[in-house]
Amino acid sequence: MEFKDKIVIVTGGSRGIGRAIVAEFSGSGAKVFFTYHKNDDSAREVSEEFGAVAFKCSQNDWDSIEKTVESIVNETGRIDILVNNAGITSDKFLMLMSFDEWNKVLDTNINGVYRWSKAVSRTMISAQKGVIINIASVAGLVGIGGQANYAASKGAVLAFNNSCAAELGPKGVRVNAVVPGFVETDMTAVMPRQVKRDNMGRILLKRFGTPKEVAYVVSFLASEKASYITGQQIIVDGGLTATVV
Ligand code: NAP
Repeated sequence: MEFKDKIVIVTGGSRGIGRAIVAEFSGSGAKVFFTYHKNDDSAREVSEEFGAVAFKCSQNDWDSIEKTVESIVNETGRIDILVNNAGITSDKFLMLMSFDEWNKVLDTNINGVYRWSKAVSRTMISAQKGVIINIASVAGLVGIGGQANYAASKGAVLAFNNSCAAELGPKGVRVNAVVPGFVETDMTAVMPRQVKRDNMGRILLKRFGTPKEVAYVVSFLASEKASYITGQQIIVDGGLTATVV
């Protein structure tokens, strides 16, 4: 019951890594609120299974995010932990990528992180405590062809992470990033088999990660065990970025 009575928000909690993060915090005693975009059935299922509260709230809609935070704070009086997890891909070679495809990924993945972090910061600063965890990606560290929009958004999340840590550290709020490699979720399920096989070959542990393996690291960074860690990033990629051969 490490997170007993903690108030946790997880964006994009209806599927994949977000769902595992909801499970991890709920299973450790936290009161979890999560957002999703369109998938009502998955959200209902996560709500029922983990006793978490779902909000249909788009990363792209400031008013909706502000209202969601207001309604949670009205109910609970505070927010202890925000996990900025929701994210999308829309892969295409640059030459073929429309501005809409570029912009949608940037708006969801980095502007969404800005909106959520800003929305919770007032409450966390007044409480002089809080934790923000940003889910980035190895695509924000190294180049991946066909993902210029996604890589730019995740590189921006990493830069944003450290500036937030600088601003909020003196106010008692810790801000850290988790940087997954390839993880078995709907996002990677659509990868062509050959691309999957090629990537698997580069991963030192020779397999994709599981959502749980990412959730454990999120849980560590959110816990008191990490009370002296801020402005950092932990790579969870099975060794994908550890070598060049
Ligand atoms: P996923 O299985 O595709 O789930 C995405 C989640 O985000 C869903 O809950 C989805 O809601 C929500 N979402 C998408 N667009 C949204 C929007 N505009 N507003 C609100 N919620 C939205 O993704 P995942 O693989 O678990 O990825 C989670 C995070 O980890 C992302 O930030 C991703 O970039 C990052 N990541 C993933 C991998 C990987 O290999 N899977 C690797 C590195 C980093 P709906 O269910 O309603 O669609």
